[in-house]
Amino acid sequence: FFSVRFLFKSTMFGACGQRRGHTPKGVDLTCQSLPVLGSSDLQAVAPIAAPTTRHMRLKTVEFSPVASFDVPLLKSGGRVSPPEGERVRKHVFSFQDHKWNSEEIRVHLNCEPFAKGTQRFCYHLKDLSMPAAARDHVAKMFRPGLDGNYFLDCALHSMAAGLAEVFNNIQASKYKLKFLDGFVFEFLDRVNPDNEASPVLMSVEPWKQGYLDHLTWGNGQCVPCGGPHDADGKFSTVSAFGHFTHHVSGGSLVVTDLQAFDSYTPSTQLVLTDPMLAAHPTYIKEHGLQGFIDATKYIWNHKCTHICSLLGLMPLRAINAFKPTTDGLSWSMPNMPDVGTDTSWGVAPPPLPLPPVDGSLLDRIISTSTTMSQQVLSQKAGQSISKNNGYSSLVHRLFSAFFDSLPF
Ligand SMILES: [Zn+2]
Repeated sequence: FFSVRFLFKSTMFGACGQRRGHTPKGVDLTCQSLPVLGSSDLQAVAPIAAPTTRHMRLKTVEFSPVASFDVPLLKSGGRVSPPEGERVRKHVFSFQDHKWNSEEIRVHLNCEPFAKGTQRFCYHLKDLSMPAAARDHVAKMFRPGLDGNYFLDCALHSMAAGLAEVFNNIQASKYKLKFLDGFVFEFLDRVNPDNEASPVLMSVEPWKQGYLDHLTWGNGQCVPCGGPHDADGKFSTVSAFGHFTHHVSGGSLVVTDLQAFDSYTPSTQLVLTDPMLAAHPTYIKEHGLQGFIDATKYIWNHKCTHICSLLGLMPLRAINAFKPTTDGLSWSMPNMPDVGTDTSWGVAPPPLPLPPVDGSLLDRIISTSTTMSQQVLSQKAGQSISKNNGYSSLVHRLFSAFFDSLPF
């Protein structure tokens, strides 16, 4: 199955497959007056092949016939960015410093999407603050009616990138994992169609040409692991990374559903994007987390690889629970052969040094994202209020001047 390449996969990060040879169009002047588009038009935006697997069937969601997927209007009218670019506040989460950094930049945003996931539309964007060769980006916006948490998605993405760096530094594998950068862009010159007092936000990442290859599944399965396609440990490395994130987070989360760009090239660097997060179902419910996977499924499905062993990671199922066998009389212990079935013998080498466990990692990521989200919202609301106050006082002054000028 691993030769199948999923171009349009939706995750909590709103994946929009980036297709080889699909050149960003820059500013498109043709979409200033888009008609109201129906579901048939939506299919025309990103034609997809007939569904062949359960995963691909997720792409064929029905959209409301009145759903609009063009970008929100500019305050000045129209949807096309002006030649000098429109103003955007770029928010970046630093996992190392655990803080947000924001700066104002200018961008050109395509007003027509080039791809869709089940939850989001993807638009080409040029970041005019970057050198010419690094301007192309992909901006992802939730479709109307969906209330996504852009800041949490961004912080989780940065966390995954940070954990991948720590994982690489242990040098358990020749493969190095690198996640694309992720940002939240706040479009200062556009009006949120759902609520004028709310900011217009999009998740943004650098444009990368190539196909996305699925290496591990969200539920912890890695079918190629240990097979002929895993001879050099590529799949085992990625699968072990998920287990590693479970360990360093004190079991509070797992970074999973990992897909890499053009992973069949000879490079030992795997460029990853759009991971999913797994957490305990109670935690997911308590925090109202959207798009998270049930970690108990991951724990049950993950089979340790030789990279897990090199890291000295305890088998997940052994840590969490023993599952009773169907007869209810005996217990199976996964990852451990029954007596007499394993002929190997040896004392394992000492495991590679692991970083300290941080059990409050997910709590802190959620907390900082909520704070940042509220901060941006209140800042935007504050601007609306002061603008309205300014308008009211201007009207008041004009009326006062008018009445003062009356001769009675
Ligand atoms: Zn493992």
